[in-house]
Amino acid sequence: AKDIITAENVHLYYGQKEALHGISLGFPEKEITALIGPSGSGKSTFIRTLNRMSDLNPEVTVTGAIRLDGEDIYSPKTDTVELRKRVGMVFQQPNPFPFSVYDNVTYGLRLSGIKDKALLDQRVEESLKQAAVWDETKDHLKENALSFSGGQQQRICIARVLAVQPEIILLDEPTSALDPVSSAKVEDSLLAIKDQFTIAVVTHNMQQASRISDQTAFFLDGNLVEFSKTVDMFTHP
Ligand code: ADP
Ligand code: ADP
Repeated sequence: AKDIITAENVHLYYGQKEALHGISLGFPEKEITALIGPSGSGKSTFIRTLNRMSDLNPEVTVTGAIRLDGEDIYSPKTDTVELRKRVGMVFQQPNPFPFSVYDNVTYGLRLSGIKDKALLDQRVEESLKQAAVWDETKDHLKENALSFSGGQQQRICIARVLAVQPEIILLDEPTSALDPVSSAKVEDSLLAIKDQFTIAVVTHNMQQASRISDQTAFFLDGNLVEFSKTVDMFTHP
């Protein structure tokens, strides 16, 4: 598959301190890329450069280029709100908004001015199904998202991102705060949606990387030290 987003010689500085030392990496369309490496190796810092979440910290400087469909997202003409709809993000700690599941999942669509009830309903059903939290009775739609278990909250957060139909979904340690059964469900939902979305996932869990990813990038001290197909990285001759 062709790369939909590519990092080219990306350096990132927190103030004077360089935290990424020239990362070049492509994300093939509709594949899952796992970013692995020890704590402090730069995985989270790097994934945040891909939708310019890193810009939210005024101390941060990024050099190099990140191209989405060939366009440099660090160009001054980039609309970061639009960018973050195309490149959605899920965080380690499930963070649903304190209102109903329906209002969570439709949040981004309503911000974009979509009012058509039938369309909103359709996107809600579609994305909750994709994230494996759809309930045929629809009872859960009215419930406060915070009343669900951690694993369900995380899948509601995934549905919230899917609803705006991004091209790329970034997940930063999405299962670290979850128990093994909930983690497995999140993994299953990622595998179920990978034919429709390009996915980048930070994990410190090698088994998880080997179970779900097509390619794996190994970070160490702000460098990309190994990058290959996951089957090759985890198969020892
Ligand atoms: P990982 O996700 O692999 O655990 P991080 O990207 O969180 O690694 O951290 C990479 C390096 O950047 C570490 O040395 C960390 O201390 C540093 N770092 C992360 N966030 C900040 C920040 N907001 N300000 C300064 N340094 C930071
Ligand atoms: P804050 O009030 O913490 O500055 P924001 O208004 O930036 O938060 O975002 C509120 C919530 O929206 C975040 O906690 C996160 O759940 C979600 N969010 C923010 N940016 C993104 C993004 N790029 N993709 C997906 N969800 C996001």
